[in-house]
Amino acid sequence: MNKILLTPGPVEVKESVRRAMARPMVNADLDPEFLSFFNQLTDKFKKLLKTENDIILLNGEGIIGLEAAVVNIVEAGDQVLVLDNGYFGKGFADFVSNAGGVPVILSKDYNQAFTAEDLEKALDQHPKVKAVTMVHCDTPSAMLNPIEELALVCQRRQVISIIDAVASMAAEPIETDQWGVDILLGGSQKALSAPPGMTILAISDRAWQRMYERKEPYKGFYLNLLIWKNGWLKDGKEFPYTQPVSDLYALDEAVNLALAEGDQLFQRHQDIAEATRQTLLESGFSLMPEENCRSNTVTAFNIPEGIADQEFRNKLWQEYGIMIGGSWGPLAGKIWRIGHMGEGARAEKLFLFFTAFAKLLKAYGLDKPEMAEVFVRNLNKNN
Ligand SMILES: *Cc1c(COP(=O)(O)O)cnc(C)c1O
Repeated sequence: MNKILLTPGPVEVKESVRRAMARPMVNADLDPEFLSFFNQLTDKFKKLLKTENDIILLNGEGIIGLEAAVVNIVEAGDQVLVLDNGYFGKGFADFVSNAGGVPVILSKDYNQAFTAEDLEKALDQHPKVKAVTMVHCDTPSAMLNPIEELALVCQRRQVISIIDAVASMAAEPIETDQWGVDILLGGSQKALSAPPGMTILAISDRAWQRMYERKEPYKGFYLNLLIWKNGWLKDGKEFPYTQPVSDLYALDEAVNLALAEGDQLFQRHQDIAEATRQTLLESGFSLMPEENCRSNTVTAFNIPEGIADQEFRNKLWQEYGIMIGGSWGPLAGKIWRIGHMGEGARAEKLFLFFTAFAKLLKAYGLDKPEMAEVFVRNLNKNN
């Protein structure tokens, strides 16, 4: 049985990306070809993220990017506004506290996106805030925040924006420079569809400035971004440590595929997401969050009354080879989540999912006829 991963990450890794990892090893520090490969790879991310900012590739799962962004920007006593309308949004508060900062948490219903007005008001109330953390797509609740507006407010108010785009990078268009984003971070295992283990950071001059102006320099080594700025980014001669060659080869192939698809990449995510949402709605499910802020990489919907979350998803996996996500925290046992990001955003996979899903629901006594056909009809209607 061909297994299908429709979780909100990690997602299926294409064969060409897996093969890239099997290329012969090189000495990353001494081989001139590798040095130029690395430069080209960072240029590809500049293209994907529409930026001239410095790109740093850290060897670690996306969380390393959240932590690196916070520890480099935040020092003892710094107030940081934490936009909390989702699990990852709220989680930033812990990184801020760990760094000695003071999180100012602005909470909002997990069904509603933050607006520029919310942010302006909070910054008026807390004029000492030095940075704002936020999440583009907050996956556990399928929230898409309008970072295009929020980042611009930060820029205007001279506060540093730290944006978790792990679950949106290479799926939603991101105009890093036009929106004035200071630190944008993404991970390899979501829409980019590479294996987990790499983080991509785009860092503005303003963010570098803030790091240079700290009263106390950040004392760590591995997450210290200035080590990159003052070394590799300055002269292109020396990495701070041996680079994860195979992971970088995989990332390179993944970003090649993304760039080759061009704007169609974003269109594909939108088409699949819309058809998925419409199909669930027509079949009597309700979606979260509210209509104007639903992510195109993940769809969250209610678990029907009387169905045990874990048991149902186990059956879907064991009997049909399809995995979808549940959620956690207050949403645990209440919603299911279909990840349709990167290689998950493929019509044939959603078709197979809806076919299996309707069959399994029927075994539970819930008749939702022809969900797969409804999906195809919705997909064609939108195209
Ligand atoms: C996946 C994800 C991360 C990384 O977290 P893991 O669950 O450890 O992979 C960070 N932020 C967001 C929004 C994510 O979706």
